[in-house]
Amino acid sequence: MKSVLSNLIKLQQIDTRLDQLVLQKGDLPAMIERIEEDLKEKQDRIAELNAQIEKLKHDRKMFEVEIEASKAQLKKYEDQLFQVKTNKEYDAISTEIENKKIEIEDLENKVMQTLEDEEQFVNEIKELEEETARLEEQLKEYQKELKEIEQQTSEEEQQLLKERHVVEQTIEERFLRQYNRIRKAKGGVAVAAVQRGSCGGCFSVIPPQKIVEIRESNRIYTCEHCGRILVWVED
Ligand SMILES: [Zn+2]
Repeated sequence: MKSVLSNLIKLQQIDTRLDQLVLQKGDLPAMIERIEEDLKEKQDRIAELNAQIEKLKHDRKMFEVEIEASKAQLKKYEDQLFQVKTNKEYDAISTEIENKKIEIEDLENKVMQTLEDEEQFVNEIKELEEETARLEEQLKEYQKELKEIEQQTSEEEQQLLKERHVVEQTIEERFLRQYNRIRKAKGGVAVAAVQRGSCGGCFSVIPPQKIVEIRESNRIYTCEHCGRILVWVED
């Protein structure tokens, strides 16, 4: 049991140092992730707007073709108006001419609408592009900072991970599970040393009899208050 406890202590020391190394990176990884997500969202929106602009251009071309056809028809009706023989015919053609004019006006309005929409989309794209340029610059800066930190820490980190792997192999699965569970629940610290009669994790007092047992290290003792694994470490 003594070896289990000393291996757990080793594991805790490695993990604490690894946590410190992660801490050195600060908010950078999270900030980088957030910017990347933001960038992705904006780039998707730009692509969507470009697709909509393509559609508007296509629609406009169609409306313009329709306008040309309607104008040709209008011209035909207007020519016919000079050749009518009866009032009834005159009225009928006049009505057709009015309808054609309304149709053309309606199509022209639609063309205008596509132009207005397109302008709005183009402006939105411009804004988004300015924002993405700014974000990309920020991202590069953060990535550079992070890289610098990682260059300083990665060697130690790799070494620690190797050591961790070796130590892990020496600990029984059930103890590892217990260790990991407590570590996760207790801010990274699963193993606490007895310090001046108290738990080094939560500082609650440990009964003297229990301290004696912990020193003997015949089994795993946990703090009644915080649940951390208690160990005795000689000074
Ligand atoms: Zn405790």
